[in-house]
Amino acid sequence: MSIRVTSVSKVYNTQKALNKVSFSADKGQIIGFLGPNGAGKSTMMKILTGFIKPNFGEVFVDEIAVLKNPIEAQKVIGYLPEHNPLYKDMYVREYLQFQASIFKVDKIQIETCLEKVGLKTEAHKKINQLSKGYQQRVGLAAAILHNPSVLILDEPTTGLDPNQLVEIRELIKELGKNKTVLFSTHIMQEVEAVCQRVIIIKKGEILVDKKLTELKENNQQIIEVTFDYKIEEQFIKRLPNIISYKNNYDTTWYITFESEEDMRPKIFDFAQENGLKILGLNTQNKNLETLFREVTN
Ligand code: ADP
Repeated sequence: MSIRVTSVSKVYNTQKALNKVSFSADKGQIIGFLGPNGAGKSTMMKILTGFIKPNFGEVFVDEIAVLKNPIEAQKVIGYLPEHNPLYKDMYVREYLQFQASIFKVDKIQIETCLEKVGLKTEAHKKINQLSKGYQQRVGLAAAILHNPSVLILDEPTTGLDPNQLVEIRELIKELGKNKTVLFSTHIMQEVEAVCQRVIIIKKGEILVDKKLTELKENNQQIIEVTFDYKIEEQFIKRLPNIISYKNNYDTTWYITFESEEDMRPKIFDFAQENGLKILGLNTQNKNLETLFREVTN
């Protein structure tokens, strides 16, 4: 196991940040760590990287006990903290040389890392002359200097413009080919684009931990239907296989079904039986965005 977290709890004074969190990850997985602000994502990442200690629980990275051997553990972890703290007056290559000397990494690695993150042509520039996207690349280069097997990235795409977003996502995907990556984000599409697995956390507890393929394979359909007349809830409830429903505007309903068959013909039959006309009908598969809203609301 690359990452193993067992029953981790953390309280800051009186504020509970994590409550008995457990999960583990095999090598070579990219995991999206999703959750609203204040959910406990950064806290979990700081504990994984040995920067803060939990009140309870254990954390292992590449089977090294982080609490007992933080320095050993940090040798196999690359960490890009939230807000990417860089020395912006330094030149890119100079900054990486500085990082390499602190962490006693062979300087040969610098050129390899610059190449990997696509910074070769910018290496002579001062960090503060670079765009936010390129500054993130500097942070990523610094995080992979010692060729760690686990990468912990705290909101690496926050504040990037749409093009930079795509570039950094591609880079994370590339780096994830031979590393285990845990990265936090609020952006659902990002998880769909980059990850094989998603962990959703809220108020310090894990609500969902699933492979993306599992999430996509469920039998839930959400159908948005607009009738020509307002109808009462008890009529809607007569439809088969309903999990939940919501009435938006008077005549429009969002109905979630659990069924292997397409539920649209059933809605047509229902309308006909009740003397209604369908003015609009949309169907959507349950995606991560709807799942996220459902579990975190
Ligand atoms: P996220 O990264 O998901 O936004 P955090 O891990 O930063 O969440 O925070 C989890 C909870 O712990 C929040 O309620 C936050 O206010 C609280 N918290 C985080 N850091 C501290 C701290 N140093 N002192 C007190 N409370 C904190």
